[in-house]
Amino acid sequence: MAKPPEETLDDYAQAKLDALEAQALRRRLVETDRREGAIAYRDGRRLVSFCCNDYLNLSQNQTVKRAAVEATEKYGTGSGASRLVSGNHPLFRTLETRLAGWKQAEDCVVFGSGYMANMGIIPTLVREGDLILADELSHACLLSGSKLSGARVEIFRHNDMAHLESLLAEHRDAAEHCLILTDGIFSMDGDAAPVETMAEIAARHHAWLMTDDAHGIGVVGHEGRGSSFMGKTKAAVPLQMGTLSKAVGAYGGYLCASRAVCDLVRTRARTLIYSTGLPPGTAAAAIAALDVIRANPDYCRRPVEKARAFTRALNLPDPESPIVPL
Ligand SMILES: *Cc1c(COP(=O)(O)O)cnc(C)c1O
Repeated sequence: MAKPPEETLDDYAQAKLDALEAQALRRRLVETDRREGAIAYRDGRRLVSFCCNDYLNLSQNQTVKRAAVEATEKYGTGSGASRLVSGNHPLFRTLETRLAGWKQAEDCVVFGSGYMANMGIIPTLVREGDLILADELSHACLLSGSKLSGARVEIFRHNDMAHLESLLAEHRDAAEHCLILTDGIFSMDGDAAPVETMAEIAARHHAWLMTDDAHGIGVVGHEGRGSSFMGKTKAAVPLQMGTLSKAVGAYGGYLCASRAVCDLVRTRARTLIYSTGLPPGTAAAAIAALDVIRANPDYCRRPVEKARAFTRALNLPDPESPIVPL
């Protein structure tokens, strides 16, 4: 039915908001002054925050902060252009080399954020005629990137490998390429994906596995290297994606993969090509944070140990990550 012509943009927005409010779906930003440790101030109250992703407190680390300030003093606050134009600061290569080495991948590409990484990587790798299989609890940006790609998207029940196999049996043959997507550590439930099993299933069906390790890097796996490193040997995950905005305490997204895949992503991912590179201070902060992590690998075990102390005190099951859903 055509809307009456007198409805203004504001009328429309307000009516939508009212409907969302009525369903308790309206969101509001609350001013929160986050400080050292887990302390936050809200409405004049000093609170202990249990919902922050700065797992290692590296955003407040003196060495990390100094690196950001020094790079900003030297190179300025912004990178000035897309990395493909004039924004490819030498710090990017250093950051990418460190990440690739840590993740035991040939190469790495850094994006403006984790969200932008997924919006760029997925449509670069698959398109109409291809198939994406995603865990039902995958992060919103894996699903947004999937939708944008034009590939057929099938959702499997959370961590249900039998369901994944049955969807592969049903749909794999009709598709040219197939991408399997999952969070390495699930952002809301805190459990881990069975990445070794998934890698084996993917190989058997000629599918490509991509893990989003936003909540894995710095806190799980051997020396905090993430969900691909939770077993005895590294799981065969060809696409290790993640963010620098959580345990790394800075900002930005990354993909660690083979040289060919990274070169293709640099050539085709629209969120890399048409978006300004990270500020030099942010790249420098991420490099310094990775150095702190690598120099103190035991430090990475602490968030899970603290989460375990918490769950034991409350008689909850042992956690697989620092995330404890209540
Ligand atoms: C936070 C998060 C992202 C987004 O990363 P940003 O760098 O904050 O944009 C992507 N995936 C998962 C699983 C996340 O938890």
